[in-house]
Amino acid sequence: MIEARLWKPLKNDAVQCRLCNHYCVIKPDNRGLCGVRENRSGTLYSLNYDKVASYSMDPVEKKPLYHFQPGSRTFSFATMGCNLSCSFCQNWSLSQPPRTNGTITGQAIPPEALVDAAVDQDASSISYTYSEPTIFFELMQDTARLAHAHGLKNIMVSNGFMSRECLDELASDIDAINVDLKCFSESFYTEISGARLQPVLDNLMYIKHELGWWLEITTLLIPGKNDSPEELEQLTDFIANKIGTDTPWHISRFHPDYKMDDLPVTNGASLDLAYDMGKRKGLHYVYIGNMPGLNKQHTDCPGCGKEIINRTGFSASRVDVIDGKCRHCGAKVHGVNMS
Ligand code: SF4
Repeated sequence: MIEARLWKPLKNDAVQCRLCNHYCVIKPDNRGLCGVRENRSGTLYSLNYDKVASYSMDPVEKKPLYHFQPGSRTFSFATMGCNLSCSFCQNWSLSQPPRTNGTITGQAIPPEALVDAAVDQDASSISYTYSEPTIFFELMQDTARLAHAHGLKNIMVSNGFMSRECLDELASDIDAINVDLKCFSESFYTEISGARLQPVLDNLMYIKHELGWWLEITTLLIPGKNDSPEELEQLTDFIANKIGTDTPWHISRFHPDYKMDDLPVTNGASLDLAYDMGKRKGLHYVYIGNMPGLNKQHTDCPGCGKEIINRTGFSASRVDVIDGKCRHCGAKVHGVNMS
């Protein structure tokens, strides 16, 4: 446990956490909505700084990031906790216990040891992922700064509901991010995720146009919840017109989990509809994840249309990109260290 960053004192020993868009006002002896930040006698503490709950070496494609150092390995870790409460969470045993019963388990692994582990195993980057990295901000920031000093890149995989202050604090620490754009409906965000859509949209634009981090977007397609043609039209319009057609969009297949265990898996037709919609809007890079056999994980050149990156599972098995350009026609292939 350490004193938290990004909070301010209020009257009567209350505090306001400024880390995410909930901006929780927390009375003494209480925790914020995420369950990992606690007010003790007028000071806010991060309870999960010394509780790493999960770590692993992953291909960067698993984040998913398809246009950031393709084929590289990224040392990934998380603490427990999340500032959202999505009924469909596919990682709920890691993200939800601090909110539902106050449990925060994990082991003390300091930033130095996390960076050493990444360097020792030849990772190119460290990923803050699995749960929601915003809520382990202090551990992420300390690790990210050390990682940069060792020549590693830093990746966030996030729900995008952090505060503007949080983004500004991390501006020079993070190199790439994958943000979940869960749907294009305020009521979905409120009722199913316990959040709001607009701050996520604002953050996506800020990340892309002001911070300049490499950005990819993921949408988990849930049958009957966020997959109507009208909603997908709005969502893909937003990415194409407000974020940019060079932004990769990953469409992911839902499987029943947590409180949404009575819904079917996303069917192929629904995934195809979203894929075709993204392409029609002019998005250069649309991918369907966790659906082997559809062959929609490869990258086609935005210039000549030839397949330039072939992916099998989570690995980039062939990359026909030289100095960031298509080997066949020389067109720019958007991304970071693409070859
Ligand atoms: S991170 Fe968000 S949910 Fe957690 S205490 Fe701060 S404002 Fe509340």
